[in-house]
Amino acid sequence: MSHPVLFVIDDDPGVMRAMRDDLGRRFGEDFQVTGASSAAAGLATLRELADEHVTVAVLIVDHKMCEMPGVEFLARAHSMHPQAKRVLLVERDYSARSPVIQALTLGQADYHISKPWMLEQDLYRGVSEFLAEWAKNRSAAFELFHVIGRLDGRSTNELRELLTRFNVPFHFDSADSAQGRRLLEQKGLTATHLPVMIRHDDYTMVDPTPAQIVEAVGGSTRNDIDKCDVVIVGAGPAGLTAAVYAASEGLETVVLEEAVSGGQAGSSPMIRNYPGFPYGISGHELTRRACEQAWIFGAHMVFSQPVVSLETVGDEHIVRTADGHQIAARTVIVAPGIAWRRLGVHRLEALVGSGVFYGAASCETQAMEERDVFVVGAGNSAGQTALHLAQRARHVTMVVRGDSLARSMSDYLIREIEVTPNLAVRLNTEVTDGHGIEHLDALTLRDVLQDRMEQVPAAALFILIGGEPRTQWLPTVQTDHGYILTGRDVVRDSVTGAGWPLDRAPLPLETSMPGVFAIGDARYRSLKRVASAVGDGATAVRLAHEYLAAQTGAHAG
Ligand SMILES: Cc1cc2nc3c(=O)[nH]c(=O)nc-3n(C[C@H](O)[C@H](O)[C@H](O)COP(=O)(O)OP(=O)(O)OC[C@H]3O[C@@H](n4cnc5c(N)ncnc54)[C@H](O)[C@@H]3O)c2cc1C
Repeated sequence: MSHPVLFVIDDDPGVMRAMRDDLGRRFGEDFQVTGASSAAAGLATLRELADEHVTVAVLIVDHKMCEMPGVEFLARAHSMHPQAKRVLLVERDYSARSPVIQALTLGQADYHISKPWMLEQDLYRGVSEFLAEWAKNRSAAFELFHVIGRLDGRSTNELRELLTRFNVPFHFDSADSAQGRRLLEQKGLTATHLPVMIRHDDYTMVDPTPAQIVEAVGGSTRNDIDKCDVVIVGAGPAGLTAAVYAASEGLETVVLEEAVSGGQAGSSPMIRNYPGFPYGISGHELTRRACEQAWIFGAHMVFSQPVVSLETVGDEHIVRTADGHQIAARTVIVAPGIAWRRLGVHRLEALVGSGVFYGAASCETQAMEERDVFVVGAGNSAGQTALHLAQRARHVTMVVRGDSLARSMSDYLIREIEVTPNLAVRLNTEVTDGHGIEHLDALTLRDVLQDRMEQVPAAALFILIGGEPRTQWLPTVQTDHGYILTGRDVVRDSVTGAGWPLDRAPLPLETSMPGVFAIGDARYRSLKRVASAVGDGATAVRLAHEYLAAQTGAHAG
């Protein structure tokens, strides 16, 4: 079988040869390194490779070819080799006008290499990273589980999602396929109870619960500790960071998570604004690493275990879990996040990060120059996002299901929207579908009054339809619309009148229950970003130390 290909194209033959030779020296043993110096020749070579079923791992394409722009070549090449990682070769230009910015944001390229390149720093390290990402999408040589189910079955999909979030290699067979039927038969099972999960050691489960799945992959679902220094509720970015800091600083730490680690961030295919990852990182990968880090520092990680109540008894905080167990902690850090309302359109969910974005536009705005973009939502955040985008985009359309903005948006924003020439509002309209393979190309809109569908070209869609903090289980702390008040807000913005029980002022991030801290998205006035949740997590541990030191001092005194 032929080696996979690293393909280089630049219409300057000297540059193409230099890149090909440099790559050949490092990767030549495992990959065929090949190149072309014209778009026509390049496309012909790639067509031949596709016809011969030779895999292309990486496409490195000069951005400024005379015959054809690099992004267009990438699009054509990628349609023949959809698994290949797409790399733009560009002149070194760190200005905001660099073509890389638009190509990456719109999902037209995955990475870039600047020319001239430095071998060890730019080229070899970069290409190794691209190849590692490429290898992730290839089927694993060893599969820990076999899953047999129905593609459209809800519990089958939940099972597949859980295994994916735990980074467990598995093979899926439909119950209707020959292989699926054969496996069921071997186990003496029928397709009436699905999904079936078979571990590599033959251990078989029929329609397993989330807790059984977590245990089968080696996770812990039961807390066997009665007392600890700190309990952290929730294993999203905020809770995981608190766990890393608390455990690494010697606090006995227990993390209780309702589902599996990752939180909302874990469902984001691509987080582009987290510092240190210029090409973005999948939320799953980022939070998986943080979870492993917390565990390596000694945190007890308990999954599939919702916390149902919290109360303070003397100096201790009693945390109860859904299985009836309880744990006494000296301090508690609450990080339950919010449940963002999702649009629930399958094809759009698959394009999150590649033209479809939940939340306000920030790093993406620049790339919207001369594009037609859409915003779903009718609240202030949707209005602000639309206005912000209108400064760059050719045209912005707000898609609003109701018949007016006035019910949900501040008047000043409505007036600004009305006078912005390239911003339109489509009332009584909803987004029902999305189109595009690598990135969003078009949307289907439905006029709810006329029940009429229309397909419109769209380079990006921003979804801002609100979220709800997951704090219903926490009636013992002060909240505002469910968001937990902390620090000065506990005494200043008290809406419940429950008050603050101590003479000292609450610490920043401390809730109305002394010694209980709230972090991340569920905190009142939080920024709803991964980096800010992470910042909260680290800060809360510092404050927890302060609280514990004062408690110890009070006892000693
Ligand atoms: C699709 C999507 C894409 C996003 N993209 C970006 C992006 O690109 N950049 C960015 O900065 N931000 C992004 N965000 C926002 C970002 O993910 C959140 O700001 C961040 O995850 C908040 O972290 P958190 O830890 O506070 O809460 P969460 O991530 O919501 O985690 C909370 C955790 O607590 C658990 N939990 C809740 N209640 C309980 C309970 N009672 N007991 C035990 N556990 C409980 C939940 O199961 C969850 O795992 C995105 C969000 C979504 C939904």
